[in-house]
Amino acid sequence: MQDAFDQQHIWHPYTSMTNPLPCYKVKAAQGAVIELEDGSQLIDGMSSWWCTIHGYNHPELNQAVKTQLESMSHIMFGGLTHQPAIDLAKLLLEITAPELDKIFFADSGSVAVEVALKMAVQYWHARQQAQKTNFVTTRSGYHGDTWNAMSVCDPVTGMHQIFGSSLAQRFFVPAPQSTFAGEWHVADIQPLEQVLKEKHQQIAAMIIEPIVQGAGGMRFYHPEYLTQAKRLCEKYDVLLILDEVATGFGRTGKLFAYEHAQVSPDIMCIGKALTGGYMTLSATLTTKHVADTISDGEAGVFMHGPTFMANPLACAVALKSTQLLLAQDWQSRIQAIEVLLKKHLQVLNTLPQVKAVRVLGAIGVVELHQPVDQAHFQAECVRRGVWIRPFGRLVYVMPPYVISDAQLETLLKQMAEMVQEMELAHAPS
Ligand code: PLP
Repeated sequence: MQDAFDQQHIWHPYTSMTNPLPCYKVKAAQGAVIELEDGSQLIDGMSSWWCTIHGYNHPELNQAVKTQLESMSHIMFGGLTHQPAIDLAKLLLEITAPELDKIFFADSGSVAVEVALKMAVQYWHARQQAQKTNFVTTRSGYHGDTWNAMSVCDPVTGMHQIFGSSLAQRFFVPAPQSTFAGEWHVADIQPLEQVLKEKHQQIAAMIIEPIVQGAGGMRFYHPEYLTQAKRLCEKYDVLLILDEVATGFGRTGKLFAYEHAQVSPDIMCIGKALTGGYMTLSATLTTKHVADTISDGEAGVFMHGPTFMANPLACAVALKSTQLLLAQDWQSRIQAIEVLLKKHLQVLNTLPQVKAVRVLGAIGVVELHQPVDQAHFQAECVRRGVWIRPFGRLVYVMPPYVISDAQLETLLKQMAEMVQEMELAHAPS
């Protein structure tokens, strides 16, 4: 099953080269099923890190790529433009908050975050407040692996310990404690107010994942936190950057997670499911005010321009993926997934090895007391015909929306059994 060349020469994400974790070779993928080289079939619970909302090998998405390929696979975006970018931009600006009026295409979620951070700094530079270059964020956040994105990730679960003082020092406030469906505790927001009150003259923006803190802990927080954060950002003259890279395109039950709180950001990042998981593309959206201020400033331009900016193949498939989503009753589908997630996962709450179970939209999380043995867990997944990739103490699923109810039930039954079996090995003493 393992490929010897792969094992010896190819670095996989967050993996050692001397002691690599097992890696299973995929031959094909169709709908919500991944087929390994030996022919075994795995029901996908990960949507390839939360992207493939319409499933794999989708005929309409395939066709969108093929059609675009016939005319042009890539063209530089400097001095040139093309219809797929224009059509996609129109649609994205239409479906996001009305205040968002300008869009910058980039390559990946991390780069969209870098772009957002740069926009915020350039905005204040243009407003003659060049000292506003820092950022405030919450703990348990995750915004990507590039340098400045890393600096605003959780300092403990992120990579601050390894990269130390080479990372810019940001202002961190505690992660929101009020849970999504629980009571709102006003004390939650006080640390943010304190930091903003004391440091706002140095702070360009607050960056936060709306409602769902993803890779930093799979936590769902109270919408009121976002409402209050927006209010405080306005009060203390700090921009609000919402990172919707993981939450956008229906995953939480709203098209974008900020809709749970009805706040609108000054800058917003999207990526992942934007192309239905077909290829890498992201975007940073902002208001006319931010864009005009940057453009009228001393630099006169926004200083970013990736080589593959607005790649036509990616734009064409992103347009089709977003159209496909909007053309279906995606809300009902997400609700139906949520019901099944609750039915199968909430019962695990009583197990001694389980710390918490959380479900929101098409996200189901089981938090354990002890870290999961990833290699063992994944081997077990493959044996059982499902694909789930846990991290730390978290076993979670974010399935493609096209997963059938029967496939989802099988996935969740296997997941529940694997969590139950952990009792012997991992029960807290
Ligand atoms: N922002 C959030 C909220 C994410 O969850 C991720 C990736 O998981 C990123 C940014 C980085 O995206 P990418 O991996 O495409 O660079």
